[in-house]
Amino acid sequence: MARKFFVGGNWKCNGTAEEVKKIVNTLNEAQVPSQDVVEVVVSPPYVFLPLVKSTLRSDFYVAAQNCWVKKGGAYTGEVSAEMLVNLDIPWVILGHSERRAILNESNEFVGDKVAYALAQGLKVIACVGETLEEREAGSTMDVVAAQTKAIADRVSNWSNVVIAYEPVWAIGTGKVASPAQAQEVHDELRKWLAKNVSADVAATTRIIYGGSVNGGNCKELGGQADVDGFLVGGASLKPEFIDIIKAAEVKKSA
Ligand code: PEP
Repeated sequence: MARKFFVGGNWKCNGTAEEVKKIVNTLNEAQVPSQDVVEVVVSPPYVFLPLVKSTLRSDFYVAAQNCWVKKGGAYTGEVSAEMLVNLDIPWVILGHSERRAILNESNEFVGDKVAYALAQGLKVIACVGETLEEREAGSTMDVVAAQTKAIADRVSNWSNVVIAYEPVWAIGTGKVASPAQAQEVHDELRKWLAKNVSADVAATTRIIYGGSVNGGNCKELGGQADVDGFLVGGASLKPEFIDIIKAAEVKKSA
């Protein structure tokens, strides 16, 4: 089964209501490949989810950038998976490196969140990736495998999971992984899934790349055999996000 190209836009903690409306307008007017070719998901901050959901074109979907690890209750400041389901938000990003690093989210905590969100019916973009120090120490695959194992230990059905490989040194730095570097980790990760989960999960799970993807580098990255799309930060706030969505065409003609 072919893996449908996936392009996610992570808006992070950015934007005013006016700016969000502008981005949505740009997306709504864009000519992009059809839904058979590319799945597009944008992730505004929580407070703008209802606005984006109610104004965004119906062939694009929305994601939250996080959710709580279990059922809601006395957890001030948190948003539960149940609330996202209640608002018809289909996707959630979990384990983003900014949350792992700044908010100390451990592999196990992220694994628990992924399992809980899936159990509530959400689809999950689960982020993994090594720091520059870890890459330079030659431990990229050990780090990525440990992050993925914490998810695999808690999840049995992978059909609603997209893995985002996001090297921390490439996020927001303008220092994109080379196509060969991305392909190498995606290939290793797929082999890890084949060995530790199943051949079917390895063949069908989309592994997308994130880290300084832009309109100029997306085609070459997207042309790599095991790169099934992107998670885009900075460029997802700009019109060039449309060009990144269009990079899905490289797989169609491959
Ligand atoms: C991200 O935050 O997921 C990301 C990939 O950011 P950027 O594209 O800005 O590097």
